[in-house]
Amino acid sequence: MNNDLKIANSVTAEPILKIAQKLGIPENVLIPYGKDIAKVQLSYLKKLEETRQPGRLILVTAINPTPAGEGKTTVSIGLADALSRRGQKTCLALREPSLGPVFGIKGGATGGGYAQAIPMEDINLHFTGDIYAVTTANNLLCAMIDNHIYHGNELRIDVKNITFKRCMDMNDRALRNIICGLGERTDGVPRQDGFDISAASEIMAVLCLASDSDDLRRRLDRITVAYNLDGQPVFAKDLGAGGAMSVILKEAIKPNLVQTLEHTPVFMHGGPFANIAHGCNSIIATKMANHLADYTVTEAGFGADLGAEKFLDIKCRAADLWPDAVVLVATVRALKYHGGIPKDQLNVENIEAVKKGISNLRRHLNTLKNTYGLPVVVALNHFTTDTQAELDEVLSQLEAMGTKAALCDVWAKGGEGALELADAVTASILNHSSPSHPYDYAEPIIQKITAIATRVYGAERVDFSKVAKQKIAMYEDQGYANLPVCIAKTQYSFSDDPKKLGAPEGFKMDVRDVTLSSGAGFIVVLCGTIMRMPGLPKKPAAVNITLDENGDTVGLF
Ligand code: ADP
Ligand code: MG
Repeated sequence: MNNDLKIANSVTAEPILKIAQKLGIPENVLIPYGKDIAKVQLSYLKKLEETRQPGRLILVTAINPTPAGEGKTTVSIGLADALSRRGQKTCLALREPSLGPVFGIKGGATGGGYAQAIPMEDINLHFTGDIYAVTTANNLLCAMIDNHIYHGNELRIDVKNITFKRCMDMNDRALRNIICGLGERTDGVPRQDGFDISAASEIMAVLCLASDSDDLRRRLDRITVAYNLDGQPVFAKDLGAGGAMSVILKEAIKPNLVQTLEHTPVFMHGGPFANIAHGCNSIIATKMANHLADYTVTEAGFGADLGAEKFLDIKCRAADLWPDAVVLVATVRALKYHGGIPKDQLNVENIEAVKKGISNLRRHLNTLKNTYGLPVVVALNHFTTDTQAELDEVLSQLEAMGTKAALCDVWAKGGEGALELADAVTASILNHSSPSHPYDYAEPIIQKITAIATRVYGAERVDFSKVAKQKIAMYEDQGYANLPVCIAKTQYSFSDDPKKLGAPEGFKMDVRDVTLSSGAGFIVVLCGTIMRMPGLPKKPAAVNITLDENGDTVGLF
């Protein structure tokens, strides 16, 4: 089998104008970035919302993954290609990849095998520069904070209580904690600072949750950057930064249009991580796709406990969206992992482990069906190492549970490998499933966190640290009681402990700290140890990436 880059390069992309035509996007709202990438004018979304009814929205989520990822993006792309093959007007809405992980652990974010978005190399590297714009807007705000302090600190910012950090789109552990402002008197005021990866920054979340340019500006202005010496919040607006930041982001807010290997249109826009941020592509991209296509396939990061929960409880409520069906991706290897098999032995047949690990799938399934009231189809993503007996075991258990399921082989076969899945999904779509959530925004913050922990994760109770309790009380006093909560925790387990696999019972969650993202409009709840700046592994993927004698990239995936 060819590698992903070779497969991607073996297909000639259709001109982006032609892809736009498939959706009925007129040429005059298209901003081409070369031949096979374009941005779309924002004003066009307003027009679409006024003139076209939204189509069906399909959310792709997964069971708790193994460290290698279980194939949500790959299955999303294959499913969309299968719907296209069935003659449906289909579009994808996906996140754009962060550059940091590309050079860390091998693996891209544009799908794999014969289910990929192209041009994969461009998308995985610099794409249309959206993430640079996010990084630059973020760092302008940081520069303005330090500059304000240097020039006399009229706002009386407490240098020991600056909450807004610098960011960069690179896995660089050495920047997690730094001291800035060293040197001469004119080099600024020394203080402790740190970097987050851009995908975990509040600016990325703001870009993804903004409904239009005005909303973007409002959100930027209301970002809390620090507290003053009286403990009162200082906002980006107080520094006069919002206008310039919105200028830096003015192209980045326009959604990017690309295509799959089978030429299904894809909006790829915004890329917040799902363990530390809300984990789905921009509202603008989802809405544009949804108003243009009959079927929109979109993905939420990591397992359904993190990604789908935030998609449904944060994004859908912010955007007035609700999926018509959910696809829950599972793999035999992840089920075995949940059945207690270590990472390096997942390729060995083990029916008992599959049986045991199904507990993880069952809990996700029940939550999606019962707590959120959604129709669910399980997509069993086929790997060449799966044995027939293992696949049969999963499918027969699902049948016994009365759950619709389809084996899909999109990695090897593209859209053809998901026709059965596509048919199951279209058949499962109910006419009007009305939104149902584990918590209301009006509930107290502690109650909201507890509702997610008990109703989505299956926890018995939640313990809050002293500092978490104090900060929650302070945010409630400051008028943020009605914000949704965005839980930051490990993606490997329902709990906050990555070693508790399967469907753990009777566990408690520990809320270590909470932080306010007043621009994005949520409270981040930190459970366990969660990194906002990843590091590189001992042998980073970067060491295998280079240009060959023809100037072509090799070693990238
Ligand atoms: P997720 O979106 O859930 O993180 P991806 O779709 O990005 O997962 O897939 C993770 C990695 O696994 C990618 O490198 C992808 O090419 C690979 N992959 C996905 N499905 C398969 C499959 N069925 N067989 C082999 N590799 C696969
Ligand atoms: Mg993905």
